[in-house]
Amino acid sequence: KTMTKDEIRAKVKAEHVEFIRVTFTDVMGTIKNVEIPVSQLDTLLDNDVMFDGSSIEGFVRINESDMYLYPDLSTFMVFPWSEDAHGGKVARLIADVYTADRKPFPGDPRHALKEAVKHAQKDGFTEFNVGTEPEFFLFKLDENGKPTMELNDHGSYFDLAPLDGAEDVRREIVLTLEQMDFEVEAAHHEVADGQHEVDFKYANALEAADKIQTFKLVVKTIARKNGYYATFMPKPISGINGSGMHVNMSLFNEDGNAFAGGEDEFYGLSETALHFLGGLLKHAPAITAFANPTVNSYKRLTPGFEAPVYIAWSASNRSPMVRVPSSRGIGTRLELRTVDPTANPYLTLAAILTAGLDGIDNHLEPSSSVDKNIYLMDESERKKAGIKDLPDTLLDALEELENDPIVIDSVGQHITGKFIEAKRIEYSSYRQFVTQWEIDNYFMNY
Ligand code: ADP
Ligand code: GLU
Ligand code: MG
Ligand code: MG
Repeated sequence: KTMTKDEIRAKVKAEHVEFIRVTFTDVMGTIKNVEIPVSQLDTLLDNDVMFDGSSIEGFVRINESDMYLYPDLSTFMVFPWSEDAHGGKVARLIADVYTADRKPFPGDPRHALKEAVKHAQKDGFTEFNVGTEPEFFLFKLDENGKPTMELNDHGSYFDLAPLDGAEDVRREIVLTLEQMDFEVEAAHHEVADGQHEVDFKYANALEAADKIQTFKLVVKTIARKNGYYATFMPKPISGINGSGMHVNMSLFNEDGNAFAGGEDEFYGLSETALHFLGGLLKHAPAITAFANPTVNSYKRLTPGFEAPVYIAWSASNRSPMVRVPSSRGIGTRLELRTVDPTANPYLTLAAILTAGLDGIDNHLEPSSSVDKNIYLMDESERKKAGIKDLPDTLLDALEELENDPIVIDSVGQHITGKFIEAKRIEYSSYRQFVTQWEIDNYFMNY
């Protein structure tokens, strides 16, 4: 529900808003913001706020650095926690980035997702619906407010207090999210010590991506207020589960959920769903570059920790990359389990959607489903079943991306180029660093 400029002005006045944070996401997935005093509100609402894009990763060259921010009025929100000593509040608006000559900036990830959604609309779909399951860890802050590596508790899946030490923090996170128009469906302790998950209701892809960015900000803010540091790093601790961000998805058309098939259809999935799945499996290696964009991401995608390792799908098993959850009718969906919370949600959803649409446009059939635990199959059994491995490292994933023109197109050349360039530098910096594992395994042996 979008607001008019006048409604925003009225709300700003009524809630004593003193500052407006105008946010956008860079190619790396980091939220950036320009904070403007309320005196500049009209300039902002007229799309006249400028910023210098040259200092932002993956944005522009120095000679074309002036950019405009076009606020999306439907994203206006007053932060519930921002009240300062004299009652002033901070509001936010998510903006699209425009160039100095007032064209959508091709390096803006949110723009890339909007373009991918247009493709779906051309194919006759009204909505690409997405529900994510972000997981995170809570670590204690020390007396100086610095994060430690000490976990907040030793709880486990669905545990109750006192084992689950973060119950109060999690409740405050949920209450805050609800004040910010999130419909929280579930919040629970996850499998690992100190690990948590909060699920909120699905929304169209653009809103879902915006929500992920807001969600991270809320979790980090509320955690800190309570003496904890929340991290969305995929694998902060070796040997225990990492944090994923499963992406549940479905395409809707005027008749409802286009993934829902009849009772006589394969798994109750429509032809559309199966073709979408075919596209997802075909482009999985390249999508991984966006879905798992850090060196650390690949330490999560290892056997034994409920994270996928192989490119396969199943209706009955949680080990493959794509699961078909049992709910049917309006809840018919595919769950992509590779994605982790370091993914830029705009780029990742654009890549996923474009891959699925490629499957639909070209009638790609998914390989047969795997209903065994893939981890119990040996390599020759996997080979026979046509199951390929996901990329092993960030570097492998970048190579897959470079060789997949459909996925490159899903976000455009500009973004892909900047992304690959920055990620290669990141990988090379990691490669130069000697890790504790190497000391433990080589130091005494050689
Ligand atoms: P899991 O079975 O993996 O634990 P959850 O129940 O925790 O899954 O999360 C399911 C997510 O899927 C929620 O965000 C929910 O809103 C979303 N979801 C439900 N139906 C659909 C749909 N048709 N399309 C996309 N997402 C959906
Ligand atoms: N934490 C697991 C992962 O890394 C997922 C656990 C679950 O199924 O919710 O993806
Ligand atoms: Mg989970
Ligand atoms: Mg899940």
